[in-house]
Amino acid sequence: MKVVLALLGVLVLAAGQAWHLGWRPPAQWNPLAPLDVSQPPNWLTGFKLKRLRDDPALCQQALQSSQLRYRAQADSPASAKCPLSNVWRIEGGQARLSSSFLASCPLAVAYALFERHGLQPVAQRVLGQPVVQVDHLGSFACRNVYNRKAGRLSQHASANALDIAGFRLRDGQRIVLARDWQGSGDKAVFLREVRQAACEHFSTVLGPEYNAAHRDHFHVDMGRWQVCR
Ligand SMILES: [Zn+2]
Repeated sequence: MKVVLALLGVLVLAAGQAWHLGWRPPAQWNPLAPLDVSQPPNWLTGFKLKRLRDDPALCQQALQSSQLRYRAQADSPASAKCPLSNVWRIEGGQARLSSSFLASCPLAVAYALFERHGLQPVAQRVLGQPVVQVDHLGSFACRNVYNRKAGRLSQHASANALDIAGFRLRDGQRIVLARDWQGSGDKAVFLREVRQAACEHFSTVLGPEYNAAHRDHFHVDMGRWQVCR
């Protein structure tokens, strides 16, 4: 144990000295470097994603490293019931979208990571073809959680959440959560793996197993809660 600690100490000192002399680890291993969506995620990715939340410039750098097509969206006036700032209109990724959606910058970056390193690899592995369209039910909605009159605002109220309802494959097949979640066929296996992949990139993922309100979609958001149900 003592030997290990001593070795660790020497390593930390050596790294500190190297840093002092101007050496920097490759960007994907440098906790302070911007998140690069094209790089395979590692144990620093979650930390880097969290750092984006409060740093619009850093978040925009990460967004630029993605394959998303997006447009800037003007901030809404602060007097709006659900004011939006630093929000983007996402028009497509590797797969097209059933319609464009508004996204906070962290949601957009998480979506890009999820699509590139989760959704598409899972589709190739389980179904042997890529997803060419993501069908969704929308992102921004100025409302409380579950549309209740009282309570806290939904993550949808800040365009920090997206509801994904299904996928279309290259050969034209459709995968619909409401229909294909049950069962043990390829489509059900695919959907379960997609949920798992989503949990690696979004803060909160709620699906059909969570409750009846999520019977037909995956709710994914970048709020403070870490939930995967
Ligand atoms: Zn939702």
